[in-house]
Amino acid sequence: MRNLKLLPESLFNFFRKPNPIPYTRDYVGKALPIAKDRLDVAIRLLERPGADTRRVIKYLFGTSSDDAVEYFLRSLRKIREEFDAISVANMSFRRRGPDALASIDTEHYQLWLAAEKNGTPVSNSVKKFIKIYPEHLDHFYKKEKFADARIADVLIHEMSHGTNDTLDLYYSRGAKNNMTDVASLVDLARKPDMAKPDSRTVHRANDIQETFHLSRFDQNRNSLPKIVQDNPAFHNAQSNEVAVTLLNQSQTDPAKFLSNMTVIQKTVEKHNTTDSISKLKISLSI
Ligand SMILES: [Zn+2]
Repeated sequence: MRNLKLLPESLFNFFRKPNPIPYTRDYVGKALPIAKDRLDVAIRLLERPGADTRRVIKYLFGTSSDDAVEYFLRSLRKIREEFDAISVANMSFRRRGPDALASIDTEHYQLWLAAEKNGTPVSNSVKKFIKIYPEHLDHFYKKEKFADARIADVLIHEMSHGTNDTLDLYYSRGAKNNMTDVASLVDLARKPDMAKPDSRTVHRANDIQETFHLSRFDQNRNSLPKIVQDNPAFHNAQSNEVAVTLLNQSQTDPAKFLSNMTVIQKTVEKHNTTDSISKLKISLSI
């Protein structure tokens, strides 16, 4: 598990009849160009950040300074650039796997990237650095009403690990009625101490994966840029993913975006930084 970065499927388990693998491969393939479009939209907004863009950055990462905007912009540009080389040929589809939507082997990804640049061949297992778990992803896809853009968001999450070496410090959680509980992400942005391995926050899952990722952040902290040391949410893949989702939503569904941002703002205003936010449900569905 060491280099696997998982995106767990946090929700309700209904009875499921498995779909054939080509079904999953087909919609994941369709999500690839959409992921690039969604990155392009986010990049364009960050290049000329208005009030809405800065609010997203502030609530997801803890600061909306010019340096913060610039840092996030550079991270997304790098992901966008590397996305061009990725195809479904880099993915394996596994019926049996962990309780996750997808994962990426970041060591294999870096090996593959270097080999691509040098034109040297790599083994099939190195080439297929993204693992897709159809059992869980199909369910997520259905729950998201077959919105390919939501699958694109999952791919952006994985590529954030691959390209920028982000970790899974904290995840958002699925909630009823297709809402997403982002309390852990907004709190991580407000309370940088949550990234410390000994932090005692209500958001801790206290599982092996979380402990590993928090410890790894702690070990690498000094080698990371100052803005990431001060705002560890920049190094959290789920925070990156949700920020891209919200930036896109500001363009595709301004009413829903406004309602989400109002809920976040009001909740944050009600809690000082010594309090934890227990629930903060917003809608990220399309
Ligand atoms: Zn992850």
